[in-house]
Amino acid sequence: MNSEIPPQRLSPGLYIVATPIGNLGDITMRAADVLRRCDAVACEDTRVTGKLMHHLGAHKPLLRYDDHASERDRERLLERMRGDAVALVSDAGTPLVSDPGYRLVRDARELGIAVTALPGACAAVAGLTLSGLPNDRFLFAGFLPVKDKARGEALAGLASVDATLIFYESGPRLVKSLAAIGEVLPGRQVSVAREITKLHEECRSASAQELADHYSANPPKGEIVLLVGPPVERQASADDADALLVDALQTLKPSQAAAQVAKATGLDRKALYARAMDLRER
Ligand code: SAM
Repeated sequence: MNSEIPPQRLSPGLYIVATPIGNLGDITMRAADVLRRCDAVACEDTRVTGKLMHHLGAHKPLLRYDDHASERDRERLLERMRGDAVALVSDAGTPLVSDPGYRLVRDARELGIAVTALPGACAAVAGLTLSGLPNDRFLFAGFLPVKDKARGEALAGLASVDATLIFYESGPRLVKSLAAIGEVLPGRQVSVAREITKLHEECRSASAQELADHYSANPPKGEIVLLVGPPVERQASADDADALLVDALQTLKPSQAAAQVAKATGLDRKALYARAMDLRER
């Protein structure tokens, strides 16, 4: 007689499950649990997800899904979520982040189906943390357009954004993108985070031109996150604000210090308050 207690069923709904971006050790305990206990897994590529499921010892039906699926297929999947727990995964990282799932989540929410997120690896965030670029504000812009003119226009459209910019990039296009960044966003600090969590992980920071020269001579392999620091004046003012906050915190509460520095610099009081709390913790 089998004395094992069967695992408890998950309640029906949509489970958005992040998976590793290279190192399988980055699967979360909750993601592994849900993938073992759900009723079905909607995924981009059944072979890719099949390998992860095999690694986890999870054996569930794999249903191919992307946002180009027909309305009928999506409706069928949504219908299934009314009685079953359906996990949504992408090939790697967080579903919906430059990956399928948006339409499915939107429709599930509209239909009142329970939707829950299991956060985990995301290359954009991992790249940001590795880069050492200012991270109090960042803008994730997905992949840059492939064509030169459209790429230049996309970058020009982001020139005034007062934040670190994050792009996904491929090896063959990296040098062209770096050259365009050098031209359209001169003077910025740039980082290339490659093969994050994998054997050949690297993160290289320099000017766009220096990086373009480096990667022309050493064509990059693998997956890449490309990051561009905020406009130069902002980096200076962020540093200045830190110095002013540290000074003010000697005698004032964080809220008062933030208000004082906001008045002196014109920077956002709420952001300064968050920074003041952060500085005080340290
Ligand atoms: N949803 C995923 C996430 O949360 O990161 C991203 C999917 S997007 C289709 C794939 C792109 O993410 C790659 O082309 C690359 O730019 C970036 N990427 C994924 N894994 C990476 C890694 N280990 N190192 C660097 N970049 C990575």
